[in-house]
Amino acid sequence: RGKLWIVATPIGNLDDLSPRARDVLRAVALVAAEDTRHSAPLLAHAGSRARTFALHEHNERDQAERVVERLLGGDDVALVSDAGTPLVSDPGYRLVRAAREAGCEVSPVPGPCAAIAALSVAGLASDRFVFEGFLPAKAAARRERLAELVAEPRTLLFYESSHRIVEALADFVAVFGGARAAVLARELTKLFETVIAAPLADVEARVLADANQQRGEFVLVVAGAEGAAADAVLAEGRRVFTLLREELP
Ligand code: SAM
Repeated sequence: RGKLWIVATPIGNLDDLSPRARDVLRAVALVAAEDTRHSAPLLAHAGSRARTFALHEHNERDQAERVVERLLGGDDVALVSDAGTPLVSDPGYRLVRAAREAGCEVSPVPGPCAAIAALSVAGLASDRFVFEGFLPAKAAARRERLAELVAEPRTLLFYESSHRIVEALADFVAVFGGARAAVLARELTKLFETVIAAPLADVEARVLADANQQRGEFVLVVAGAEGAAADAVLAEGRRVFTLLREELP
């Protein structure tokens, strides 16, 4: 049986491709990539001549079966995503499960991950954190999700794209309050990398003031609710619940 390698790739700087990632990409017969055209330059950079195969959100179930057939046939396969670590806000978990269920070994080649890179420069409590990935695209659902997280005491990590960063920051300020400490990490490892560490209201003001700060890829790291603030939110929740309970038949 072949082995399935889960290979992390750069999030912007090709030099972040590890020597082991390069070796694996060269050695495998097949690379399953989220977008084969997007991964072509990386594979060329790695000197890989493996055949590529598209495995994305919409075809993962079917393609996983085909990859497993190849593994059972003895071929080693690597999974890469467009950037960073596969499975982190990216496809792959169904493939990993299918490969393991078929008795194949699954092995990681760790490397870049935007969330962890942002956390590593945020300077916010990092002993416990919650990865929330992308928020819902629709405003109402997004605010609802944020409202669920207001009292979360652990540091929170979110992914955001340039399309929604302005709207999203407004929602963060509205729901979490402008005083909550945050770090907006933009274009990490790329030419225009910027890290803004400030209360949410100031992060929003700086992004609004400069159109360049609205471009690119973002990780927003938000401090967890402080003990007292979390207690206040819970107390308020209990108060409202008690009032409602009295009103209900
Ligand atoms: N699997 C990837 C990882 O390990 O980070 C994440 C894939 S997800 C589809 C893409 C999102 O990751 C972007 O919208 C952005 O929020 C974040 N991201 C990716 N590269 C980034 C970078 N260089 N700087 C900041 N955020 C980045």
